[in-house]
Amino acid sequence: MHVHEVRRQLVPDPVAVSRVFISVDMEGVAGVATFDQVIRGGSGYPRAQELMTAEANAAVRGAFDGGATEVLVNDSHGTMDNLLHDRLDPRARVVFGAPRPSCMVQGVSPGDAIAVFLGYHAAAGAPGVLAHTFSSNFTELRVNGEPMTEAEVNGLYAASLGVPVGVVTGDDQICDVARKAFPGATVVDVKRAEGYSATDSLAPEAACTAIAEAVRAAVAAAGSLRTPAVPDELVLEVDFASPLMADFAASVPRTQRLTARTLRGSVESADDLLKLVMAWYYLAALAAQQLGMLVHRR
Ligand SMILES: [Zn+2]
Repeated sequence: MHVHEVRRQLVPDPVAVSRVFISVDMEGVAGVATFDQVIRGGSGYPRAQELMTAEANAAVRGAFDGGATEVLVNDSHGTMDNLLHDRLDPRARVVFGAPRPSCMVQGVSPGDAIAVFLGYHAAAGAPGVLAHTFSSNFTELRVNGEPMTEAEVNGLYAASLGVPVGVVTGDDQICDVARKAFPGATVVDVKRAEGYSATDSLAPEAACTAIAEAVRAAVAAAGSLRTPAVPDELVLEVDFASPLMADFAASVPRTQRLTARTLRGSVESADDLLKLVMAWYYLAALAAQQLGMLVHRR
């Protein structure tokens, strides 16, 4: 052992900057299960905003208690503008508003200790509370042949920047997916799915206590998490709800039409994967708008 190494042991290291990224969705928040809660203008929406903000604050508190020196919260639901900013923990910064190219993971950065996915939900077609994959116009989304949840797509993006997913919270269905998709991550099961729009939920206060503790422990132990490798080629396939949506989305260059409702596109990075998901998302929404106009024509 050299002398300077002995000295280094005696002088404590300066506190390392440890940034934590939190993406917060709404469908997987405790106390949320019905459609009127997750759509702006719904009668339950203001209540769901409060519950979502409380869970975000619980995660922020846990992150700082675990040793984080900076926390970035990404408002990741619907309009991407749901959190009650005047009630947010003043130590956190917040990314909100849409559109943005990396959507739910805009702001996750190389060097972040962990990514936290809060209030997440199961994939379209799965028996989870308000289950969907990015868009109600996608009936299934696959990457390299495997059906994927939003958590897994966002996890690929975080992994491409070297950031491991440390905590996932939501109903029992997304928690089952997360246990397999993110080995070593902590999952917090805040409710059990009793149907698409029904749940058996923890009380919000109990969920917040569990979330704060899980995030605290995960940030403190972040060094033990491994970041999975991202494949060199990512083949995205989406089944759209209607052929008109696929007609619109097929205008993206290098998109291949597999069936009337299914498109395939191949990209070489998780960044491009998210951009392609977003492009198809907005084009499908445009098609849905046109379909709506036809339906309502008199
Ligand atoms: Zn959502």
